[in-house]
Amino acid sequence: MKIAIFNEFIHEKNDANVREIYPEGIHGQIASLFADQHTVRTFTLDNIGELTDQVLRDTDVMFWWGHVGHHRVPDAVAESVRDAVLRGMGMIFLHSAHHSKPFRLLMGTPCNLGWRENGDWERVWVCDPSHPIVQGVDRYFELEHEEVYVEPFMIPEPDKLILIGAYQGGEAFRAGCCYRRGYGKIFYFQPGHETYRSFYHPAVQTILKNAAEWVKSDYRAELTCPHVEQIG
Ligand code: ZN
Repeated sequence: MKIAIFNEFIHEKNDANVREIYPEGIHGQIASLFADQHTVRTFTLDNIGELTDQVLRDTDVMFWWGHVGHHRVPDAVAESVRDAVLRGMGMIFLHSAHHSKPFRLLMGTPCNLGWRENGDWERVWVCDPSHPIVQGVDRYFELEHEEVYVEPFMIPEPDKLILIGAYQGGEAFRAGCCYRRGYGKIFYFQPGHETYRSFYHPAVQTILKNAAEWVKSDYRAELTCPHVEQIG
């Protein structure tokens, strides 16, 4: 698999606490899950110019993490990512990428949600144990701390909802949402706040690996709208 990982890479530079958790950046941590068996390329706001249409055409699966730098992603890059998904590239949006430009383009809705950050635990429930993304995951798993995301989450109805997050404070959130857009498959996954260690959790890592396999497609097609002759 050819995997591309985008992380805005701002918090790790500005916040010593985040840097301590993710010394290689969140992109580095996700890359470490795949580097043994796959070709992995990482992109940040520092080299986003290298995230070209040509690279996207040569990518099977892309991960996206962003938070405070969404506006610094050029519209043209976001549109290229959207088009790559429509042509068949697999796409995984992590945590605060709910407000990223490519996610909003692909969803067509504001993707707003409520949030609270005061160290709650999260219990993530598997609501479709038959789904490939949750194979190897128990009925639920617990994250010691995670940012609370709160419904309503202004997304289109997922094609398949496979995870629900429940929090110490009693809130609930659609934490694992599957979509298809054009020929591409999309997975949105809620855990992954920068000041917590969610990307080290074995169940999260299993889900990210399974998700990469699930969104990957061998079918790619150009976006055309051809005039056709009548048959016969
Ligand atoms: Zn967050």
